[in-house]
This record gives sequence, structure tokens and C-alpha cells, in this order.
Amino acid sequence: MIEQYGWCDELRLAFEPHARAGYRPGRIIVQQREANLVVTDVGTLSARLSGRVRHEAREAGHPAAGDWVALSANVGEGTATIHAVLPRRTAFVRRAADSVQTLQVIAANIDVVFVVTSMNADLNPRRLERFLAAAWQSGARPVVVLTKADLCEQPEGQAAEIATLAAGCPVLVVSARQGLGLGGLMDHIKPGETCVLIGSSGVGKSTLVNALLGEERMATQDIRATDARGRHTTSHRQLILLPGGGMLLDTPGIREVGLIDADAGLSTVFDDIERLAQNCRFRDCGHTTEPGCAVRDALDGGRLDADRWAHFQKLGRELAALDLTKDRTAQEVERRRLAALQRAYRSSKKDLRDPSF
Ligand code: GDP
Ligand code: ZN
Repeated sequence: MIEQYGWCDELRLAFEPHARAGYRPGRIIVQQREANLVVTDVGTLSARLSGRVRHEAREAGHPAAGDWVALSANVGEGTATIHAVLPRRTAFVRRAADSVQTLQVIAANIDVVFVVTSMNADLNPRRLERFLAAAWQSGARPVVVLTKADLCEQPEGQAAEIATLAAGCPVLVVSARQGLGLGGLMDHIKPGETCVLIGSSGVGKSTLVNALLGEERMATQDIRATDARGRHTTSHRQLILLPGGGMLLDTPGIREVGLIDADAGLSTVFDDIERLAQNCRFRDCGHTTEPGCAVRDALDGGRLDADRWAHFQKLGRELAALDLTKDRTAQEVERRRLAALQRAYRSSKKDLRDPSF
């Protein structure tokens, strides 16, 4: 049962101390304010947080859909208590609206992020860069999905342009209207892996979700659970098994994780610029009037697009402003974790990258 949800040897190892304490593993499929719904090998349970987890959540963020947890269960009642959250491999995190100190996890343990954008007149490369940066920042593998190919004169040309922005991640072209390229998405999700779709409203995410779920949608969308008073309630499932294996995590919050919250993601999307800057004569080059500036040189020679450079600088300033309000230690830990994940991902993708890049 929980194998379908991605339970594996690595998790089993991380779970050992909890198993010794007599707890069972489960994965949160619906996060709600009061009780989470958790799949376990004894069915779906409605689980509350233990006092300790509730306390820890103030700093580490509340357990979220996609999290693996350790619970004590009352199987007869269909209820459980969450005693611990297993370390997250990846996470989409944002600052809570009411306090920059409070982290909010919107989705945990995501493997693949489909960054969705449409190929019609709305295509906005700058917005795509922001979504890509958010995807990198989560630690998951981004895959760009260009939708509505039927509305585009030259989908291949546009895809090639986007590929240069997307810093080596795969770029897929689909048309839901023509039923084109949809299978390509599934090729990126291995059994037991979890994907999300992010992107602006109207680009075709719901349409893609429907296509991914196919006939199964009605059967898997809603589940019944028992609340603490023994009533049956119907909940919208957030972590959904896909008919082809793998899972989709879909909540309104995850779909539009717009703004970047750390420069780890930024430097991955703009790594061509960062590489250029390494060739400047001075290490602290401000790229304005310094002699031997590789960035200015590339701008003058037309090898670096002026808009792209301006955008990079603007995002950099926004992030610098954001930095001032952040807890530096936490940020540094997170930055190092992400850098390691990105290195691992890139080395596994090396052969797909343009060697002249
Ligand atoms: P979301 O807001 O990102 O979930 O976007 P939707 O899935 O609701 O789609 C927005 C609109 O785009 C709808 O009117 C869809 O019918 C349309 N749409 C989605 N996919 C395609 C496509 O491949 N081609 C065309 N022409 N329209 C599409
Ligand atoms: Zn310079």
C-alpha cells in the first residue's frame, strides 16, 4: 500500500528509530488545519499533531501534503497522532503572510516540477524564469512544459529559445487540444515519484491534470474520512496516485508559487551570466565601467541579451532586500542543501546539456 506512495529503503532506514519506538509510517495526502489525512499500511487515517510536533512546527513549518510521518494509530477509530516528521528531501516553502520568521511548507518531497507556460502571445520569458527559480529552489527537478502548441506558428523554434533560458532542463511541447505530447510528461515521473504543476493562471494546468488523471479522476479525487467526532466527511485529496504510476500533488497553493525566496534558484537559471562574471578581471567587478569586464564585453558584442541582464540585476536587488529580513543561519543551511541537490541533478544531466553552453 504505502509502496505506491513512494515508501522505499531509504525512507525505511530513516524510519528505523521510529519503528523501534513502535510507530508506523504514513504519508500526508491531505493537509488541513485541524487534522491531516495520512495513508498508512492500515488504511487512511485522520491524524493530529502531537504536542511536540506542534511546538517544533513553529520553526520547521507544519507538516504538509507529501510529508512522511511517524504515527501511533487507533485503527478502529481511523485516527492517529503524528509524533515526528521524516527529513524532507525537497520542499516548497514560503514565508507566512503574517511573519517573515515563520516558514510555511506548501508541499514536501516533490521529485519533479512541471513548470507550465503557454506558447501563445502570453508567453513571458521573465515570468518563466521566476517559476523556474522557484522550482530549483525546492530541490526538485524542473521540466518546462510549453502548452497550447496548436496556437503557435513555430512551436519548435519557440521551444529552442525557451531551452536556452531553462539552463539545461528538459523542455516539452504539448497541445491538449490536439492530444499532442501528453505522454511525454509521464516519462519524467518514475514509479513512486511525486510531481507538481506550477505556472500562471490560464496556461492550461487544470487541463493537463485532467489529462494525466484520465478516467481515474472521479475515483481518486474525493475520499471519505472520519473526523474526531465520528462523522464522515469528504475531503479533496491533494496527493493523488496517477494511473501510470507516480503521484501528482495538487493544491491551489502550490500551483502559483510565484516569487523567488532565495538566490540559490536564481543562480541556476542565470548560470550563464554567473559564469561570464567569473571572467571579469576584478573579482568584485560591478560590471559598470571596470576595465576587463566580461559582462560588458558580452553585452557590447551581443552575446548577452540586455533585457536578460537587466532582469538578472532587478531580481538580484529584490533578493538583496529580502535577505535583510531573513535569519541568516537558516538561510545558509538551506543554501548549502540546495546547492548539493542541484549539483547532483546537473551531473546526472550533463550529457543532455549543450556542450558549448
Ligand atoms: P489553468 O488556469 O492553468 O489551470 O488553465 P486551464 O487548464 O483552466 O486552461 C485555460 C484555458 O486554456 C481553457 O480555456 C482551456 O480550454 C485552454 N487550453 C488548455 N490547453 C489548451 C491547448 O492545448 N490548446 C488550446 N488551444 N487551448 C488550451
Ligand atoms: Zn564585470
